[in-house]
Parts: sequence; C-alpha cells; structure tokens
Amino acid sequence: MDAALIRDSVSAAMPPAERLFDELRERTADGPGVSRESYANGEQVAHDLAARAARELELEVSCDAFGNLYMTLPGRDRKLPAWIAGSHLDSVPLGGNFDGAAGVVAGLSAIAAFRHAGATPLRDVTIMGVRAEEASSWYGGSHQGHIGSRMALGLLNPRELDGAVSSRSGRTLAEQMRLAGFDPGAAQLGRAHLAPERYLAYLELHIEQGPVLDNKSIPVGIVTGIRGSARARSARCLGEYNHSGAVPHEYRSDAVLATVELCHRLDCEWEAVRNAGGDLVFTVGQLYTDGKAHSITKVPGEVTFSIDLRSEDLAVVERTTALAKQLAAQIAARRRVSFELGDFNLSPPARMDVTLQREFSQGARCLGISTMALPSGAGHDAQDFAHAGFRAAMLFVRNAHGSHNPHESMRMDDFHLGTQLLTWMLAR
Ligand SMILES: [Zn+2]
Repeated sequence: MDAALIRDSVSAAMPPAERLFDELRERTADGPGVSRESYANGEQVAHDLAARAARELELEVSCDAFGNLYMTLPGRDRKLPAWIAGSHLDSVPLGGNFDGAAGVVAGLSAIAAFRHAGATPLRDVTIMGVRAEEASSWYGGSHQGHIGSRMALGLLNPRELDGAVSSRSGRTLAEQMRLAGFDPGAAQLGRAHLAPERYLAYLELHIEQGPVLDNKSIPVGIVTGIRGSARARSARCLGEYNHSGAVPHEYRSDAVLATVELCHRLDCEWEAVRNAGGDLVFTVGQLYTDGKAHSITKVPGEVTFSIDLRSEDLAVVERTTALAKQLAAQIAARRRVSFELGDFNLSPPARMDVTLQREFSQGARCLGISTMALPSGAGHDAQDFAHAGFRAAMLFVRNAHGSHNPHESMRMDDFHLGTQLLTWMLAR
C-alpha cells in the first residue's frame, strides 16, 4: 500500500475506532474515569468488545490458557514469521480510556485499513489483547506485574500467582484467574506460548504518559528504549531525638537533614548525568518522619523514605545505586546518623530494536508525519517481549494531562497519524 492508500484506508477505519473507544468508556465507566480490573469484570468487558470487533473483521480469534486474546489476519505466506502488535486491555483503578486500549484499537484499525484497501499483508498480522499489565495497581503482595505478557512469554515465576493478592477481593491472583475461567497451572517459567522464532517483531502503540510530545507539539514519538529501574522501597535514616532548642547542631544526629543531603547529592548526580548526555530520573516519592514521635520541638530521630532510580542505560542504574550507598555512608559518618537503604530491586532496561526505529522514521517521512525519538519512563509489555528475545518497537501518541488518571486525553487526529505509521510498518 502506498502512502495515499494508507492515509485513505486508515481514515475509513477511524469512525469505527472512535465508536469502539466510546463503547469501552461507557461499559467500563467508574466515576469520571474507567476501571478495568485485571482478571475481573472490567478487563473482560474490554476483551469481549475487542473480540467482537475482530470477528466483524473476520479475523481468526483465539485465547491462550491465561486469557490473552489473539486476533489474526492471515497473510499471503502463512509460513513466514508473523507480526504481533498489541497492548493491554486492563486499566488502573479510575484510569483513563486510552492507556493500553489505544494499542489494541490501533492494531484492529490497521487491519480494518487492509480490509478497506482490499490488501493482504505478506505475513500474518496478529493483534494481541494482553491481560493484567496493570496488575500492580490491583494486586498487592509479592509479584512483578505485567502478568499476561510474562506468562505468555514464559518469564513469570508461577509462585507470583500465589504471592499476588487482590486488594479488592482478598483472593490470590491464581484464584482470581481460575474464577475468570483461565488456567494459572499452565504458567511455567521457561515455557513460552509465544516463541520469538515464530514472530518477526512485537509492535506496541501507546499514549505517551509524560508531557514531552505535547510540549513539543509533535503528534507521534518513536520510543528508543524502556527505562530500567533500581528501587529501595523502605529505606531508613536513624538519628537521635533531641531538644530542638537546647542541643547545638554539632551535637545533633538529625535524620531529616541527613536524608535531605542524600537526596540533594543524588539530584546533583542527576544533573551531571544529564549534562553529559546520559539518561537518568531519580525520585524520592515517600519521605516521612515517625508520626508517633515527631514534633516541632524535636530534632528528628528517624526518617523512612524510598528511592526510585531509572535509566535507559543499565550501567547508569548500577553506578547511581552504588553512589547512593557510598554517599549514605559518607553522610552518616559526618552527620552522626546511620542509613539502612535495604536492597535495591533491579529491573533491567529494554532497548527497542534499532532497525525498527529507523524504519518507523522512514515511514513517518513517507507519510509526512512529524515524529521525535524519546525514551519511555513507564514500563510496558514491549519490555517483556524484548527481554524474551523478540525484536520490539513502540510508538507513542501525544496525550495531554498525563496518564493513570481520568483526564488523559488523546486526540483522534493524533491517533489517526500513529495508526497510519503502524499500518505502514505492517504493510511492508
Ligand atoms: Zn499502559
């Protein structure tokens, strides 16, 4: 399909796409937002709607043992490795309508464009509706999230299904899956339903969840990589409670000032990495004195806090983690306190395929769409595909007001452009 045919055919697919978004919003509405709980009713409604749209397009529709949905347009040569494109169909509680769903609707719209153009792609195109990408916001306990994709890719330790506990029903994820009609027993570490040899690449269109594209007035982003992270969930600084008037500073063990210095020194490191052209974000999202013991007239004796370090570059994550420990030791000695940072949970970064990024840029030039390259700060199913040995690539669509809230807003004009670029790739 040439650029003009892609533009026309994707245009024809936009009214049904908009109706599908509207129906998804209405049928999973929760106050001002939507709630599509992983392995519960809201997610199932979204899967049913996607499967109905796929049957209307006369696609082959199937599920794996974990309830991931596959909707396939047969290609001219069915023996060739297939494209797989998709995203998740669950949401966070009171989330927005487009986070996740946009990737599935874009895939179905690309196929609708093929149908409209009367064209058959060279190889099979499978659209995947992934389960439980947002499991971390519905299930507490011990698990690593991204449940559906990691089960399909053989990357999930089955113990996570018993370790994850629903904050609503109190059931384990395994019980919740069984109740939803699926088979948690089929999850085995190392045994994949989706093998990288069978697929040419995994492609995921997603709304941007940060402000970059909106601020730069660019409709579509080509993702360079998904940041890895190191997280200290329950770090502590221990000092000594004392009288705020009677004790001079040189005799104090002030846990707040020591923690603030550590945060400031890490912020300086962020600046140094950024000035050298590197990628790093650093967040202290939790910082508390002990509510039972603190007072305006007391030198604070204890602070609990968290550290979340993320970078596209594993070496930066590791170096900054080591630096945090080293700075903590130095500051502790000088300020007469002790730090207990605890273990940093490490999640490695995922690089998006460089050739696919270049091809997306080429497609954008061909279609007259302005794009920019940017990293993804948030996690996505694409990182699990990359970790499983798939070539993976992502497109971001401009979106105002952030994400994981009811106010996220993607314009259909921008979705149209992102879907054109996805279609261009699938038509190669
Ligand atoms: Zn998402």
